[in-house]
Amino acid sequence: MANIDMSILELNHTYTAKELAAMWGYKSHHALSKGVLHPKDSDILILFVTRDRLPGTTQFKNELRGNVIKIEGADKHGTDKLLLDNVESQKHRIFLFYREQQLTPFTFLGKVHLIHSWIYTDKASEFEFFIENFESIEDDMALIDYIVHYDENSSVSLNVMCQSAKHLTYHLRCERDISNREYVMNQKGTSCAVCGFNFAKSYGYDVGKDLIDIHYVGEHGDEQMLDFDADFIPVCFNCHRMLHRKRSHNISVADLKKRATYYMEEPDYEQLTLPLDLLF
Ligand SMILES: [Zn+2]
Ligand SMILES: [Zn+2]
Repeated sequence: MANIDMSILELNHTYTAKELAAMWGYKSHHALSKGVLHPKDSDILILFVTRDRLPGTTQFKNELRGNVIKIEGADKHGTDKLLLDNVESQKHRIFLFYREQQLTPFTFLGKVHLIHSWIYTDKASEFEFFIENFESIEDDMALIDYIVHYDENSSVSLNVMCQSAKHLTYHLRCERDISNREYVMNQKGTSCAVCGFNFAKSYGYDVGKDLIDIHYVGEHGDEQMLDFDADFIPVCFNCHRMLHRKRSHNISVADLKKRATYYMEEPDYEQLTLPLDLLF
């Protein structure tokens, strides 16, 4: 009989299937390999999602984007009903463990809500979940898209989404503020602090002058504490998008700068998919 206390798990920490099985009193970690775990007599469902499975095994289409994860249900539709019970009323508390590669530990991403389902009979069904945990955001812009296209029929309240997006909207609001941008432009110029790109130089002064984004690099999330000289840098649109791209890889300005130079000088860039820590 499994005894599962989710409150002792730490968000964004990694756990191996073996550790979890031992913690929860399962004899073998194979109990966790089904993708959806529903411990007996409990009100919880635990999802174990692997993005890339080993070659030769069944590949599920699992996609993490913004605070949304889309997964395929089990081949034989064994878990469809269990999951579907949660569309209308939240019958279970649902939690997510996620990893990119098979045979690596899972990251605990906390509570999720089922928001959409596509039920098929000829192939695996698909389910989409919203992840509450802000730190799990893979792509900031995708989260903003999601909030903007908020659907009232969704089972997640706007409040839950906004809680999750609160830090992020604060960050982006500072960056969008015209007077902040003007101040930073006057102090630091209009060339990208990462790659050096300058809109006026590339496209002509008449259309490109005074065009640049600013990116917040400060630590504190308090408006009163903003230090405009230290907390913002000018960045081009490409570099800005990259900086907001992968929170899990945590691309810092310094890392992106190194990558920009590295890839600019490397003609065979399509072959290069080295992880950051191998590059530097
Ligand atoms: Zn740039
Ligand atoms: Zn930014």
